[in-house]
Amino acid sequence: MTRREALGLPAIALPALTLGAVRLATAAPAPSLSSAIVRLKLKHTWTTVMSSSDFRDTLHTSYTRDGITGHGEGAPIVRYNESPESAAKTVGELRKFLLDSDPRQFSKILAEVFRRVEGQYAAKAAIDIALMDWTTQKLGVPLYRYFGLDPKDAPVTTFSIGIDKPETTKAKVEEAAEYPVLKIKVGLDSDEATMEAVRAVTKKPIRVDANEGWTDRETAVRKINWLESQGVEFVEQPMPADRIEDTRWVRGKVHIPIIADESCLHAHDIAKVKDSFDGINVKLDKAGGVLEAWRMLQIAKSFGMKTMLGCMVSSSCTVTAAAHLSPLVDYADLDGNLLIANDPWTGVTVKNGKLILPDRPGLGLIKHT
Ligand code: MG
Repeated sequence: MTRREALGLPAIALPALTLGAVRLATAAPAPSLSSAIVRLKLKHTWTTVMSSSDFRDTLHTSYTRDGITGHGEGAPIVRYNESPESAAKTVGELRKFLLDSDPRQFSKILAEVFRRVEGQYAAKAAIDIALMDWTTQKLGVPLYRYFGLDPKDAPVTTFSIGIDKPETTKAKVEEAAEYPVLKIKVGLDSDEATMEAVRAVTKKPIRVDANEGWTDRETAVRKINWLESQGVEFVEQPMPADRIEDTRWVRGKVHIPIIADESCLHAHDIAKVKDSFDGINVKLDKAGGVLEAWRMLQIAKSFGMKTMLGCMVSSSCTVTAAAHLSPLVDYADLDGNLLIANDPWTGVTVKNGKLILPDRPGLGLIKHT
C-alpha cells in the first residue's frame, strides 16, 4: 500500500510519456573506459643502433558515453620508463576518476590527470586522444575545426627511410616515389654511403634525423655543412639530448635549421632549448596528447621557433590525431601508420605527400572490419 492509499487518497497515474522517459533514462548504459595493448606488425624490420624489431606494442583506449565512443592511443617509450603494461596500469588507476568526471570539462580533467600522474605520457596521450575524439564527435565537428584550423593548410609529410645497406636504401627510396620529401636517419659512420645511395636515385628535398648521433661538436658542424651541400633542408637532434650548450655552438656555425626532438619533451623544455635550436619536433606520445601538443606548438611559435609534428610507430589513431593539428606546423613527419601492416583504422590519408584530414566528426576514424 502506498502512502496516498493509506491516507485514503486515490492513486496518481503518471503519464505514459513520463514513465517511458524514466524507463529510458534508467536503461541508458553506464559510461565505460577500456584499454588494450595492441601489437602493430611492421612491414619491414625496424633497425636502430640499439635493436631490431618486427613489431611495436601500443596502448589503445575506448571511452564510451551517450552512445558515442572516442578512441585513443599512446606509444610507450622505454627510455622514459614507460611500457605498454605501465601505460595500461595508469589508465586503470584513472578509470574511476575519468568515468565520474563530466567530459565537457575535458580541459579540467586532463589538467588533473597531469597533476595526479608523474611521467607515463603515452598513457596520458591515450586518455587525451580518446576524450578529444569523444568531445568533438559529440560537438559534431572534426578535431581540426575545434581548434579553428584550415585543413588546406596541412603540410606534406616526410616518409622515413631507415638505416640500411646502400642497395636496400636505394630500393626503399624508389618505393617512396609518391612522397615528395624524404626523411633519412643519419648519425653513423655510414652517413656518407647512405646519402650517396639516396642521391644516386633521387634529387628530392631531404630532411635528416641524427638521433643524438654526433657527440663531438666539430664533427656535428662538419656533417651538417656537408649535408647542406647534399640538399638537406634541416637536421633533427644532432647531439645528445642534454648537450644544449654544445648544440648552441654548433647552431652558430651552420646555415640550415636545427630541430630539437629528444632535447625538448615537454612545454617547460622550450625555454631551455630556444637559443640552441631553430625549432621543435612535437609528438603526442611525448607531450601527453593533443591539448599539450597544441600548447607546446603555440609556445614554440611565441618564441619565433619553427614547429614540427612527428610520431612514433603507431596506428592511424595517434597519427590522425596529430594530423588534425598539422595545419599549425612548418614540417610534418607523420608516417608511423604507413610503416605497419595491420593498422586497425583508416583516418588521415596522404595524397602526393600532402596530409588529407578526414572531415568526419572527431578524429574521423573508420574501423577496419
Ligand atoms: Mg627524431
